[in-house]
Amino acid sequence: MKHDPLIGLAVVSPGSRDNIRRLFTTIKGPIDGAALDFDHRKGDNPTVRESYEAAADWFGVGASSIFVMRQVHGADIAVIREPVDPSQTRAVVAADGAVTDRVGQVLTVLTADCLPILMADPKRGVIAAVHAGWRSSVAGIAEKTVSLMNTVFGCEPADIFAALGPAIGRCCFEVGPEVVAAVRESFDFADDYLQIKAGGKGMLDLAGLNRSVLTEAGLAAGAIWSADLCTYCRDDLFFSYRRQGEGTGRMLAGIMIEE
Ligand SMILES: [Zn+2]
Repeated sequence: MKHDPLIGLAVVSPGSRDNIRRLFTTIKGPIDGAALDFDHRKGDNPTVRESYEAAADWFGVGASSIFVMRQVHGADIAVIREPVDPSQTRAVVAADGAVTDRVGQVLTVLTADCLPILMADPKRGVIAAVHAGWRSSVAGIAEKTVSLMNTVFGCEPADIFAALGPAIGRCCFEVGPEVVAAVRESFDFADDYLQIKAGGKGMLDLAGLNRSVLTEAGLAAGAIWSADLCTYCRDDLFFSYRRQGEGTGRMLAGIMIEE
């Protein structure tokens, strides 16, 4: 991992000696300390506007090349093969995953505890961004993304690299019995990532769970990088919905194929 001079954490994950740029932002830029917040629902907020401008600068693209999904905690995946109409780039298309082979197209995920996953097949020049909260994880979004990269773009899972960004950790992610049941129903290995507590509640390791989903889908264990930073614990670095409530900000995870 390297610290980018402009904006949050920039990640050099497995497969980094390729032409793929990956970014996970924090609550502020590390040099000028300017606040970063990508919560587009705040309307014409100067911090939000400047944050998107900073991200566009970091990627070296225009603001309309940054595709933001309207995340709905589902498992639909947007496939982008043509230039995106500028009117469709800011939270218009309902999806929790996006895949493209277009050079210069930035795919993003916004989070404040949920797990952002960035994937890339450098061989075929295909990238993906996935919003993996517990609901989308249970709905199979990570596996569906790998499957779609394979069927639509011909990616071999063994050629795909994944970067798991900061998310709420097992230390802090208490879930109710209904979530425990849903996770167990979806995954044979669920109990490896659930620490059961009194009353049937559990502490859920969202990143660990998705790491297993990806290796089961055929990714090499060494091709999966994880930030291993808890958004709830690290209030110096991250927004956390659980810690701060509805008004909290959003971090951006972004990925792009360079020229
Ligand atoms: Zn924690």
